[in-house]
Amino acid sequence: MKIEVLTLFPNMFDSLKESVIGKALDKEKFILNITDIRDYSLDKHKKCDDYPFGGGSGMVMTPQPIFDAIRAVDPNRVCKRIFLSPKGKTLSQSLVEELSKEDNLLFLCGHYEGVDQRIIDSEIDMELSIGDYVLTGGELACMVTIDAVARYIDGVLGSSESTMEESFSNGLLEYPQYTRPQNFNGMAVPEVLLSGNHKEIEKWRYNEQLKITKDRRPDLLEDK
Ligand code: SAM
Repeated sequence: MKIEVLTLFPNMFDSLKESVIGKALDKEKFILNITDIRDYSLDKHKKCDDYPFGGGSGMVMTPQPIFDAIRAVDPNRVCKRIFLSPKGKTLSQSLVEELSKEDNLLFLCGHYEGVDQRIIDSEIDMELSIGDYVLTGGELACMVTIDAVARYIDGVLGSSESTMEESFSNGLLEYPQYTRPQNFNGMAVPEVLLSGNHKEIEKWRYNEQLKITKDRRPDLLEDK
């Protein structure tokens, strides 16, 4: 998979070079290109924002630098083009899985009050929100999405099992996890996990999943 990101703050993406995603990038499990929209501004001061027509507070990202940047990185329109926006479709695990099947993704990160609507109308395939709250820019939302999508790319996670047993993967939240020591500050690991009886362990885990989902996210059970 190849991912193109258009942003006014390219350095924010340095944090993706850490941890599991960083290792996957080093091993070229997927390609991530970060483009600074400012490089495409034809303004002599490289300005990329202006006052909104009709008045109102804040600034709006101007169309020209974004248009030229998009056309430069995706000239043949092969990418699924996504604008990060609180007005977009809310990111979910099923949407993450869907996006992970694409070969080419392009993310446009907004800033200030957003981007000129004509860019969204003519250049964007989908608006995507990471939740019902407003961030200062699309960069963090973009990184959240890339992190979640990358986990489905072959070779990014250590074990192919990892995404299969997680929260949301079967419509339920995950069961509790325990590791060594067997006793910690007087708290023991549930006996069944030490039994070696895989059928019983599976049954216990499934029951825990049902319990925790019923308690915290009963809405997920309504779909079952
Ligand atoms: N004026 C916009 C509104 O009320 O819908 C909010 C603009 S916000 C301050 C600036 C940028 O941050 C947006 O253009 C978008 O790219 C990004 N952003 C903010 N909240 C987001 C969210 N929940 N999900 C995805 N992107 C978000």
